[in-house]
Amino acid sequence: MKIPSNKTFLAGSELSYVAEVIAGGNIGSDGRFTRACARLLEERYSIQKVVITPSCTAALEMAALLCDIGPGDEVILPSFTFASTANAIVRLGALPVFVDIRPDTLNLDERLVEAALSPRTKAIVPVHYAGVACEMEEIVSIAKAHNLFVIEDAAQAVDAFYQGRALGSLGVLGAYSFHSTKNVACGEGGALCINSDDLVERAEIIRDKGTNRGQFIRGEVDKYTWVDVGSSYLPSELVSAFLFGQMEMIEWSTKRRRRICRLYNEQLSTLEEQGLLRLPVIPDYCESNYHLYYVLLPEEETRDRLLRHLNQQGIGAATHYVPLHSSPMGQNLGWKDPLPVTEMVSECLLRLPVYPDMTEGEQLYVIRAVCEFLQKGALQVARKPELVTAVG
Ligand SMILES: *Cc1c(COP(=O)(O)O)cnc(C)c1O
Repeated sequence: MKIPSNKTFLAGSELSYVAEVIAGGNIGSDGRFTRACARLLEERYSIQKVVITPSCTAALEMAALLCDIGPGDEVILPSFTFASTANAIVRLGALPVFVDIRPDTLNLDERLVEAALSPRTKAIVPVHYAGVACEMEEIVSIAKAHNLFVIEDAAQAVDAFYQGRALGSLGVLGAYSFHSTKNVACGEGGALCINSDDLVERAEIIRDKGTNRGQFIRGEVDKYTWVDVGSSYLPSELVSAFLFGQMEMIEWSTKRRRRICRLYNEQLSTLEEQGLLRLPVIPDYCESNYHLYYVLLPEEETRDRLLRHLNQQGIGAATHYVPLHSSPMGQNLGWKDPLPVTEMVSECLLRLPVYPDMTEGEQLYVIRAVCEFLQKGALQVARKPELVTAVG
């Protein structure tokens, strides 16, 4: 059996939507489908303004520009994340300040944020790992108290909620990803969520090469020109047509993923009781989109052996994130402080396959391979109990 780590689902409508665009003759930006995607996200998730972008990376870059992040500024973010979260800041000459993660949700530890602030801190970038929300109430209140921007890296968090509110709608800005590995996918794609009226006009300009072409198209000015810094953060209508087909199926996709993750939880809970691994933690005020499923092994060696075992059986299990602070670029930036939880999680985490079309047969094959390996090895494994018991 061959089970990939993930696989894009097809809604079925994508091809006809793309054909519609081609037949209409305008494959450029901001046509009917790009606008429909933005409207769908605004309405379903109560976001003030959404603009579709070519990637989440692009949306994060726009967010950093909109916050006027620049040389000398510091930005708080986790080290346990993808390079794009930090690149958006570093490329503007600002300094990332890495904060450790919570051992339960693996998200930015809000209890450590205040100690990491300095007079130069400009923004906090919480990353909602696996579609589970950061402690946004605390993060937003720290930001308010210190007059900082909150930019949510919600790349993995479309259709996920915190206290009933959609992720991406809670910070001043939020960024979604529609990369082929994400829950809703169009190959490469993203969106910027703008939750402040003050930033809407400038976002439109930055997204369109620093010009006021949007105002020209609406007839508000009689010619358009260069008015601000910008880039090309516009997706082609061809891509948006595909994306719209996917978006119509978001809730179905989340439901399928939920079922798969719950079956993993059910079937692996005995191993957790035996102290052989730890399952994901989702606080009850968080509604996950089940973007990915992971287990934490007691130590790196067991994780690596289980990874090889599963890969040999044709199962696309995978690790996640070399922490940014210990990466070559992080070291170039001169980062010295250890981040113990981040480092432990990076060594012990293993992702198991999740995709909406995964069959129960495929899933039981994965579960059996994990159980067999860990239970057979249970007697030899030297446990590292603090990870398993730290969270309870
Ligand atoms: C996927 C991802 C990104 C980048 O998204 P792209 O759409 O590929 O640019 C950024 N941050 C996190 C946390 C991600 O998971």
